Amino acid sequence: MAGVSELNLVEIFSSIQGEGTHVGAPTLFVRLGGCDLRCSWCDSPHTWQPAPACRIEVGRGSGRFEIRANPVSVEAVIAAAEALDLAAHEFASLTGGEPLLQAEAVAAIARALRARGPRILLETHGLAADGLELAIADVDVVSMDWKLSSDVRRASDPKRGAVEPFHGEHEKFLAIARRAPELVVKLVIAPASLDAEIDEAVSRIEANAPEATLVLQPVTPCGAVREAPSAQRLLALCTRISSRLAKVRVIPQTHKIYGAL
Ligand code: SF4
Repeated sequence: MAGVSELNLVEIFSSIQGEGTHVGAPTLFVRLGGCDLRCSWCDSPHTWQPAPACRIEVGRGSGRFEIRANPVSVEAVIAAAEALDLAAHEFASLTGGEPLLQAEAVAAIARALRARGPRILLETHGLAADGLELAIADVDVVSMDWKLSSDVRRASDPKRGAVEPFHGEHEKFLAIARRAPELVVKLVIAPASLDAEIDEAVSRIEANAPEATLVLQPVTPCGAVREAPSAQRLLALCTRISSRLAKVRVIPQTHKIYGAL
């Protein structure tokens, strides 16, 4: 287990934000290892377990990587970010895996990177409320998922649908997340996603953080998911939800189109 000044890292690289409300923005990605969920569409199962080694891009946009053993120090992460022309990025994205499983390291990295220029965007599954409490003061944008139990299970549960829905935990997380300057809630819509769960999520967001931007992200087929939802379904959902929340956006993943990381 990594100590407070160390973390389990998967990779650091420079790219373009591929999803969410800041799509297209030059972004430096810091991806941490380990996740306690198993989403049916997950495109990064290599992050589920802590990684024995990480890769660090050598030169912004070079596509060349140096391999280092884990754990790595927070100082090494900052140095690697600076070597990738950190200040030229609009955002630094702290992502995973689930970054808040290593919340103290996330807070330390966020604080240090933010002081050097970019805004801090935290990509999270939206369940680790205690971890968010540690990091929230150093985050500019919380981009939290709202997980639907038809598509997502806990790593400790054998199958989907048998677990308690995640709504209550998401509400607790949301109460902290709305202290950030910007709050984005993302619902990944797969063909198997149930309208009743989506409507329940929307009701909870409407009641607890009506100012949040809700992103409906049609799933990119991956893993056990073979197809995206239909355009008709997305339009119907957008129309229905827009009558309840002021800021609703339908934004697919764009980096998959041009093959970026
Ligand atoms: S929370 Fe993220 S990393 Fe974890 S299983 Fe889901 S999509 Fe994959």
